[in-house]
Amino acid sequence: MTPKDFFAFAEKHGAKMVDLKFTDIFGTWQHCSYPISTWDEGTFEDGVGFDGSSIRGWQTIDSSDMLAVPDPASVKLDPFFKSPTVSVLADIVDPITKEDYNKDPRNVAKKGLAYLQQTGIADSCFIGPEPEFFIFDDVRYLSNQRGAMYEIDSSEAAWNTGRSEEGNLGHKVGYKGGYFPVAPTDTYGDLRAEMVDELQKVGIVVEAHHHEVATAGQCEIDMEFSPLLQMADQFMWYKYIIKNVAKRNGKTVTFMPKPVFDDNGSGMHTHISLWKDGNTLMAGDGYAGLSELALHAIGGILKHGRALIALSNPTANSFHRLVPGFEAPVTLAMSQRNRSASCRIPMYSGSPKAKRVEFRCPDPTANGYLSFTALMMAMIDGVQNKIDPGEPLDRDIYDMTPEELAETNVAPKSLDEALIALEEDSAFLTAGDVFSEDLIKAFIKFKRTEELDPIRLRPHPYEFDLYYNA
Ligand code: GLN
Ligand code: MG
Ligand code: MG
Ligand code: MG
Repeated sequence: MTPKDFFAFAEKHGAKMVDLKFTDIFGTWQHCSYPISTWDEGTFEDGVGFDGSSIRGWQTIDSSDMLAVPDPASVKLDPFFKSPTVSVLADIVDPITKEDYNKDPRNVAKKGLAYLQQTGIADSCFIGPEPEFFIFDDVRYLSNQRGAMYEIDSSEAAWNTGRSEEGNLGHKVGYKGGYFPVAPTDTYGDLRAEMVDELQKVGIVVEAHHHEVATAGQCEIDMEFSPLLQMADQFMWYKYIIKNVAKRNGKTVTFMPKPVFDDNGSGMHTHISLWKDGNTLMAGDGYAGLSELALHAIGGILKHGRALIALSNPTANSFHRLVPGFEAPVTLAMSQRNRSASCRIPMYSGSPKAKRVEFRCPDPTANGYLSFTALMMAMIDGVQNKIDPGEPLDRDIYDMTPEELAETNVAPKSLDEALIALEEDSAFLTAGDVFSEDLIKAFIKFKRTEELDPIRLRPHPYEFDLYYNA
């Protein structure tokens, strides 16, 4: 699509506004709207200016001017404006050097793909994520602005979990009972269908939608696998659409991995495969029908798993999910069928073309551009260094004693641990200058000073249970 096609698309839809969007380091879409009459073909070369110092972790105040250069191929009709508005994604450029910005996540994904091709290992990488999320009735579950102590296990939450004395339990999803009885137990079929409808309108191919295991409206909508960059773009549209369709219906959606204590959390299992000349490189006659290359790639994921998790599970809340008992992985191992291992090789993937690895650690607070690219970089490193993935773990990890579990390659237990792992193991990411040191440093610094420190300053509600009468 050229700038000409962009204007033709806008005209066809009667759009008088264009909404420019880009993603910050932490995976949040930023936007600014312009009357379309102020844009011409030159805008797609010159870009539009914005204040890079007001975007978290980007520029300092003394070098704040940055350019956002729209990518005409990314144009879509935005469903959430009353007056017809087209959306376009931007790539970020330094106005002085004219270089692509090394902290722009979309740029990282592009550099990752160029690096993959340059290594000669593969020419494309496909990603199929399975994001899960919770739909709630109102904002009562969110903490107040200052993060003060807040009653999460409110009576409504208790009612939703089916463990309350009140309410019509017959029509409620019980504890871990959401996968997947029909209506009226599942009350969100219509809302999910409306979400799917909007996803399809922006060109996303949806495979299925369903209620998930946990109570209180945990849902999943699956997209068909796509090339990495396209999927990272789509994931931004996905969160935007899901949240806004919910809001339009008086509901709220959260992608935080563990909003409800003691029930399943929300993951974003990420299926990944490497391809060359239109053929998959994953299928072969090794363990679980994998090729030697695929086994080495898994070796890379397992070796760098602790650092990877800092990018695929980047919030303090992520680590409330990675605990035994809730279908989330707790150890870095591969297995054909074991859902408690971090790398699963799905068995029902019929033809060899569908052979892939499912990395089960990620959650939907991840920035798709960074998380998908980091996963691919770990696989490249595994292939280049012929890393042995070790013995498969074909037993239930949740059954292990703490001693047995400690002998496995345990996933980090906190964001703090994961950030240290990333600090100590980042060469596989900076290879080929795909991730810049600047980006990794800014990411770690922000997470420590703006998230972990403020959390540490606040007494946790459970401390009152433990210590009030101490
Ligand atoms: N919600 C689970 C997780 O945290 C996954 C459940 C499933 O899709 N089987 O990963
Ligand atoms: Mg699924
Ligand atoms: Mg699921
Ligand atoms: Mg899965």
